[in-house]
Amino acid sequence: MATLGNPQKTIEIIQKYEFAFQKKFGQNFLIDTHVLDKIITAAGVTKDDCVLEIGPGIGTMTQYLAENARHVVAVEIDSNLIPILKETLTDYENVTVIHDDILKVDINQIAEQYNGGRPIKVVANLPYYITTPIIMGLFENNVPIDNITVMVQKEVADRMQVGPGSKDYGALSLAVQYYAQPYIVANVPPNCFMPRPNVGSAVIRLTRHKEPAVKAEDAGLMFRLIRASFNQRRKTLQNGLNNSPEIPYSREQIAEAVESLGLGPSIRGEALTLEQFASLSNYFTKMKD
Ligand code: SAM
Repeated sequence: MATLGNPQKTIEIIQKYEFAFQKKFGQNFLIDTHVLDKIITAAGVTKDDCVLEIGPGIGTMTQYLAENARHVVAVEIDSNLIPILKETLTDYENVTVIHDDILKVDINQIAEQYNGGRPIKVVANLPYYITTPIIMGLFENNVPIDNITVMVQKEVADRMQVGPGSKDYGALSLAVQYYAQPYIVANVPPNCFMPRPNVGSAVIRLTRHKEPAVKAEDAGLMFRLIRASFNQRRKTLQNGLNNSPEIPYSREQIAEAVESLGLGPSIRGEALTLEQFASLSNYFTKMKD
């Protein structure tokens, strides 16, 4: 039976081990069982699943995952938490704790070793200071993934989910939506954590597409175009691309490519959909031939 997930138990463990929260590791532990249930349900964890948990903390969510999954691999950076996890996870034989930095471990190798290379699920209450590198690393390194269900800063969840016309729309929205279908599961207030974060949080599920959402012949070029457009989001798309050192095309070539979209020369990059960025990059790719 999961024994953690409430304030009393968390305080008890923290006092017993004289654990000091480290801001630099983004440590805000979950103390609300309803939120834990919601995360596990949204991730659709079953006894067939191998789950990667990033940052297990004192093992609160890990216990829930272990009861619902076939195997759980939990990667924790803070050496002070390792003896605590040994105690809180002692009853679970299907958990492997790895003491390492998630940005340094080979997650493809974990999927291979613990799930025969089949798609894993990623579930986490993420350390907010590295949300984007963790998620983009999972996608860009082609880790076999079913879905990623994570607690992130509310504002970041919004950015991942929105489309053109929102002030939150940007390079992160497009990068996430290229690889996955986002769905915001729940908003979570600061009082569900210990200590309380200064920002609102949200649980978001990213269900990986079988194939990327659009066909870009040169995805690297498409993402360079996206970056250049949003780096100067108050400029027109044409000026944004002209001014970017990452875009090697002439003023005339850029004007021609933007015209090919049929949107007029004053269009801003922030108005373009993922499909339109793919068309734009495919136009440039053909131009090179
Ligand atoms: N899962 C726990 C919970 O929900 O109560 C803890 C979540 S806390 C927001 C983030 C966790 O990630 C902490 O345990 C922290 O030490 C760990 N962490 C921070 N940076 C990490 C990294 N680079 N690699 C692995 N774990 C990390």
